[in-house]
Amino acid sequence: MRHTPIPNLPTKLYINGEWLEASDKATFDVTNPATEELVATVASATPEDGLLALDAAQIAFHDWAHRKPRERAEILRKAFELIIDQKEELARLVTIENGKALPDSRAEIAYAAEFFRWNAEEAVRNIGEVSRAPSSGARMLVHHKPAGIAVLVTPWNYPAAMGTRKIAPALAAGCPVVIKPASETPLTMLALMPILEAAGVPPGVVNVLPSRRSGLLVDTMLRDPRVRVVSFTGSTEVGRKLLRSAADSVINPAMELGGNAPFVVLADANVDIAVEGALVAKMRNLGEACTAANRFFVHDSLYDEFSRKLAHRMGAMRVGNGLEEGVEVGSLVNSETRTKVVELVEDAISRGARVLTGGTVIEGPGYFCPPTVLVDVPASAECFKEEIFGPVAALTRFTDEDELATRCNDTEYGLVAYIFTEDLRRGLAFAEKLDFGMIGLNRGLVSDPAAPFGGMKQSGIGREGAHEGIMEFLETQYISVEW
Ligand code: NAD
Repeated sequence: MRHTPIPNLPTKLYINGEWLEASDKATFDVTNPATEELVATVASATPEDGLLALDAAQIAFHDWAHRKPRERAEILRKAFELIIDQKEELARLVTIENGKALPDSRAEIAYAAEFFRWNAEEAVRNIGEVSRAPSSGARMLVHHKPAGIAVLVTPWNYPAAMGTRKIAPALAAGCPVVIKPASETPLTMLALMPILEAAGVPPGVVNVLPSRRSGLLVDTMLRDPRVRVVSFTGSTEVGRKLLRSAADSVINPAMELGGNAPFVVLADANVDIAVEGALVAKMRNLGEACTAANRFFVHDSLYDEFSRKLAHRMGAMRVGNGLEEGVEVGSLVNSETRTKVVELVEDAISRGARVLTGGTVIEGPGYFCPPTVLVDVPASAECFKEEIFGPVAALTRFTDEDELATRCNDTEYGLVAYIFTEDLRRGLAFAEKLDFGMIGLNRGLVSDPAAPFGGMKQSGIGREGAHEGIMEFLETQYISVEW
C-alpha cells in the first residue's frame, strides 16, 4: 500500500496528557478513502488501557469539577479560538481520513469549534433554584453537580464535530471524559489534543482511545462504577448494545442514533427554494449525515419541475479527491459504505425507480459515488426504510396531504424532517403532526450549537447543544432546608 506520511501527526493513545502505545502494542491502519493509501498506523487501545484512562480521569475529576466556572469557560473559549486558528490544517486532515470535500471539512471544523464557544457561555449559566415546599413550608434548594466521568463514542462521518459536541458540554459541566473516536477516522480527534492542552485543559480531563476493539473496550469501561455518563453518536444497532451495557451499571445514556429524514415539498412551495434546500439537506457531507434527506415526498403538481431542477444541479456537481479545490463531492468513507449505496440504488431500480442523473459506478482507486437522483421510487424500496448515507436523492410523488404525515412517520426513526411551503401556518401545522425531534421549515439545515439537536423514537435519547446539552453531564441535587 502506498503511504504519504503527514509530519507530526499524533497516532498514539492520549491518556493523562501523555502519548502511549497500546498496552499490547497493537496498532491499526488509517487510509485515505480517496486514494486508498495508508495515512497512518494508530495505537489500538485494549480494555486495560480503558481502565488506565478511567484512573487518569478519576484523579483529574476533583480538581476540574472544583475549578471556578469562569476558569473552565475561559479554557473552552481559548480552545474555540485555537481551533479556528488551525481551521485549514484540521479541515485537510478531516478530508484525508474521511474523504469528504474540503468545503464540507471546513464547515465541519467551524461547527466543531462553535461547541467550545457555546459551552464556554453555558459553563457560567449553571443555574439552580430555591422555592418553598407547598405543604411543609421547607425551603427546596435545587442545584446541579458534575455527573462524573463520561465515556464518549463517536462516528466517522464528522470526526471533529461529533466529538466536540460532547467534550465541550462535559468539560463545561466539570466532567472529565474518555473518548473513543471511530476507527476509520481517529486522527482529527488526536490532533485536537495538543490544541486543548494549549488552551489549558489539564492532563486526564480529556483522554482519547482509538481502538479496533471497540466492543470490548467500551463495554469494560461501562462496567466500571466510576463512569456515570455514556454519550454515543452512531448507528441505532450499536446504540442498543451500549444501552444494554449502560443498564447494568445504571449509567445515564445520551444517544444520537440513525435517521430517515422525510423531505416534503407541499403544493404551494417555491420550487427553487425547495431545490436549494434539497441540495443542502441531501448533499452536505455528501449525504453521509444522520440529518440527510432520505425520502423526498413532492406534490404531484411540482414533481416534474422539482426533480428536473434537482437532477440538473446534482448532476453538475464536481466529484473527486476532496483535497482538490473545486471538488464538491468527495469520496465515501470506505468500500462497505459505497457497496451499500450501490445496492440501495440497484434495489430501487429493480422495483421500478428511474434514474435522472448518476446511478453509475465510478472506478477506483477511491470510493466515489456520483450524485444520483431517482424518481418514482416505490414505498417498498429499501432506500425508503434504511439510511442511504450517500449522495442519492430518492423521490416519490404525493397528492393527499392528509395522509402524508402518516407516511412520513412510518419509520422507526424520528430525527429530522424538512418541509417546504410558502404558507407558514400550513407548514407549522404540518410540523406538529410529525414525530421528529427537529424540523427544517423552508431550510435544509437544522444543526446549530445553540439548538437542541436530537431525535425521537429510535433516533435517540437526550439532546446535544443548546442548554439541554450540558444537562446530560449534570446531576440534579435537591436539598430540603429549614431555616
Ligand atoms: P457505528 O454505530 O458503526 O459506530 C459508531 C462508533 O461506535 C464508532 O466509534 C465505532 O467504532 C463504535 N462501535 C462500533 N461497535 C461498537 C460496540 N459494539 N461497542 C462500542 N462501540 C462500538 O456508526 P458509524 O458507521 O460510525 O456512523 C454512522 C451512523 O451514525 C449512522 O447511523 C448515522 O445516522 C449515525 N449518526 C447519528 C448522528 C446523530 O446525531 N443522530 C450523527 C452522526 C451520525
